[in-house]
Amino acid sequence: MALCSDSPFLLGSVLSVDILARMPRISLSNARLGLNASLSRLGGFVSETASHGLDIIYPRTCGGCGGVPEGRGMHLCWACLASAVYVKDPFCSCCGDPVEGAVHHAFLCSWCRRSRPAFALARSAVRFRGPMKQALHTFKYEKACHLAGDLGGLLAGCVRAHYADVSFDGVAYVPLHPRKGRERSFNQSRLLAADAAKRLSIPILHRALSRVRVTCTQTRLNAEERKRNVRGAFVATMPEWIEGRRLLLVDDVMTTGATVAECSRVLMDAGAVSVHVVTVARG
Ligand SMILES: [Zn+2]
Ligand SMILES: [Zn+2]
Repeated sequence: MALCSDSPFLLGSVLSVDILARMPRISLSNARLGLNASLSRLGGFVSETASHGLDIIYPRTCGGCGGVPEGRGMHLCWACLASAVYVKDPFCSCCGDPVEGAVHHAFLCSWCRRSRPAFALARSAVRFRGPMKQALHTFKYEKACHLAGDLGGLLAGCVRAHYADVSFDGVAYVPLHPRKGRERSFNQSRLLAADAAKRLSIPILHRALSRVRVTCTQTRLNAEERKRNVRGAFVATMPEWIEGRRLLLVDDVMTTGATVAECSRVLMDAGAVSVHVVTVARG
């Protein structure tokens, strides 16, 4: 099997037939299927061992509250997971922005009515507050990469809950500018995408997008300023892997959605059939 090193599709610990069947330019044979089954068993062992390894390497403290998580291999405790505010109805049919109060019909928020984003839908697992906000801060700014599994689990659950009828061909994520990447050596979206892709058995597209312009931090900008800030910041670097594909786009937090909307626009311009966005949290 010719899985060349520059293939943008990198497989997780389990090489499923489903993944390989959807990979372009690769044919399957019975011998390879046998190899896949062996690799699958090995993958399970490696994953289990890696989980124990993480417990040894990283502190067994909850990323949300600093307590000790009960579950083996977990880095968020049950109390934090239980107290998280999960995003549920009512929310905008398109961008998933939740609203207070009782709305019993499908609706579009004012942002989506004014300018329909390039993504088909966007959904998030939890609100960006409380222990989950703390966990995402710890993950991103303290480079607590061991939280990727717990947060990736939330992402995968969100995809299963909202996109069960969509058959995705690949997972893309919001990239860092190479200069930022060198400084930070950590792209939280990439880690989340890799974990969710493995859980969902969808190939990850590591080079779907590149950030070609350094953008200033969005935290103090309003919605229109955020849109202008990210305009032209991304390019599709592997259009031949994007054209004709249904893509899942991953990011950690969605606030106004300007960044994921711009990434989606670039992916759609490169020929994607659809882009569905999923984030751990919604601001
Ligand atoms: Zn906790
Ligand atoms: Zn909306």
